[in-house]
Amino acid sequence: MGVNMNSCSVSKKCGGCQYIEMPYAEQLKKKQKTVEQLLKKYGKVNKIIGMEKPEHYRNKVHAAFAFHKGKGIVSGIYQEGTHHVVPVDECLLEDAKADEIIVSVRKLAKSFKLKAYDEDTGYGLLRHVLVRVGHATGQIMVVLVLGSPILPSKKNFINELCKLHPEITTIVLNVNNKRTSMVLGEKQQVLYGKGYIEDCLCGRTFRISPKSFYQVNAVQTEKLYNKAIEYASLSGQETVIDAYCGIGTIGLAAAERAKKMIGVELNQAAVKDAIVNAKINGIKNADFYQNDAGRFMIQLAEAGEKIDVVFMDPPRSGSTEQFMEAVLRLQPERIVYISCNPETLARDLGYLTKGRYRVAEMTPVDMFPFTDDVETCVLVVQTKINTSYRSED
Ligand code: SAH
Repeated sequence: MGVNMNSCSVSKKCGGCQYIEMPYAEQLKKKQKTVEQLLKKYGKVNKIIGMEKPEHYRNKVHAAFAFHKGKGIVSGIYQEGTHHVVPVDECLLEDAKADEIIVSVRKLAKSFKLKAYDEDTGYGLLRHVLVRVGHATGQIMVVLVLGSPILPSKKNFINELCKLHPEITTIVLNVNNKRTSMVLGEKQQVLYGKGYIEDCLCGRTFRISPKSFYQVNAVQTEKLYNKAIEYASLSGQETVIDAYCGIGTIGLAAAERAKKMIGVELNQAAVKDAIVNAKINGIKNADFYQNDAGRFMIQLAEAGEKIDVVFMDPPRSGSTEQFMEAVLRLQPERIVYISCNPETLARDLGYLTKGRYRVAEMTPVDMFPFTDDVETCVLVVQTKINTSYRSED
């Protein structure tokens, strides 16, 4: 299947590339408009930060496997809104090497006579393949998601795959035998290498495990973090929160400019990575906690902690009133809100700016070219003039 700059034969079925037929400059304009429409009531929106080369930016690639009559084992994407696998070998968004590896896994699966997992019956083995590529390091992790824990001829399979792709640095077997739309299951076993990859961002090295969140577009992530750190304008004296911290990337990139960095994250694997990442980078002033961000912030507010700056980077659903209320009680000088969904961002800014805070700066960043998703970095600061409001609390 050929993929040209502005077309893809499966784009209608996939639905992942809403803007595939739009020139890049136009995509940026459209995203700028979307953000402005939602956020202009809070102030001026700066110009969106785009990519120089917007193709093949996704360093995390997922393929679902299935058996199709007449074709045998196929790999690709789910047709939008279904679990029907549409065969795909390459994609304009995805890392090209990762796509090649997935094709190789499928060919090997054929020659090793492995069966694709059948979601309806629960029979079969190969369910998904996940490939993660370290943009700066070139390290590559392949996660084979199987419906049961035994991979027949395991050694030979791994040898063959590594022979075809010596650039693979680790292979993990993940077992997912549940009827679920989650890709990864609970149990996993390292088949080859260390079981994780590392990548470098903002001059730091980060360990990424199979289950941890890591931004999919490394080039733009660096620009986004630099903007967030600029907005935080740290002097070295501040106590800073990195909420929804994932593997600690933002907090660790900013830690040397702060007195103390405190990260909070719900996902246990990610918190473990964050703690290791602090060590790898020799960062001693950062602590990471596994907790619900809202609950954690309430605990800080109740303990009367002094917090100067809050980074918050919640999932698409946005933050919670519980979290934001705690932030307002903590009265940080600055809040840097990083959002991958301008709609929930607009809603949350409404809450954050009800009292003594106002939006000072907003910059969209194009993390997901060819899609209608847009990331936005917002600086929220305390308004110093409103003393009558201050006397109320
Ligand atoms: N700041 C990180 C991760 C952002 S993605 C980065 O830039 O890479 C959002 C993160 O929020 C995910 O890691 C997810 O596991 C975490 N998360 C989701 N709900 C949460 C909650 N209620 N409390 C804390 N973390 C949560």
